[in-house]
Amino acid sequence: MKLTIALSKGRIFEETLPLLAAAGIVPAEDPESSRKLIIGTNRDDVRLVIVRASDVPTYVQYGAADLGIAGRDVLIEHGGDGLYQMLDLNIARCKMMVAVPEGFDYDAAVKKGARLKVASKYPLIAREHFAKKGVHVDIIKLYGSMELAPLVGLSDAIVDLVSTGGTLKANRLTSVEHILDISSRLVVNQAALKLKYGAIQPVLDAFSSVVRQGE
Ligand code: ATP
Ligand code: MG
Repeated sequence: MKLTIALSKGRIFEETLPLLAAAGIVPAEDPESSRKLIIGTNRDDVRLVIVRASDVPTYVQYGAADLGIAGRDVLIEHGGDGLYQMLDLNIARCKMMVAVPEGFDYDAAVKKGARLKVASKYPLIAREHFAKKGVHVDIIKLYGSMELAPLVGLSDAIVDLVSTGGTLKANRLTSVEHILDISSRLVVNQAALKLKYGAIQPVLDAFSSVVRQGE
């Protein structure tokens, strides 16, 4: 039985290496230097496919990959059809935050009932957050560099991932609200979990044995 695991390059790949190692899986190549999108491993029955972070749930949903690793942010925006979230891997940890330019009185704007323009790569998360607060917003969907939007008048605020806050600070923005704690999850195609349980279960066990708890 062959297993295909969908991963994105960069931090998720790096932080997944020790988990794969615990399952006895060692990639044959480094996706940062290789241009290959399908990467073999030391195990004949396991291969990796390298996709955009936001595409991981789609590959798993349709069974093009049996397993995948994706951020909670990406999974919420995807909706989760056709896949199970099996394990919080506690990697690629960051926070989903609302941020505004330094000096913008966010609380006063909210109190006043102002309509806010919010730029984000995460329209569902942003919309739900402001709906819960009863704040009227116009969501402007962006694909990257959200920090720029309020600096050039595209939006009043952004909803974005923050880890150290360095990028916000460099652009004279400040976090004003915490929305969600984010980490990456192991997702499994629903049909594959049944049909390939014998191959998937040892991987699940190995991953859960090395997941670092809390902090
Ligand atoms: P793409 O480059 O294809 O647009 P991306 O920017 O979402 O994708 P990454 O930056 O590798 O890709 O992020 C992958 C996942 O890692 C995100 O979905 C999120 O869960 C998490 N993440 C993003 N930024 C950070 C960060 N600064 N610190 C820790 N984890 C992060
Ligand atoms: Mg990124």
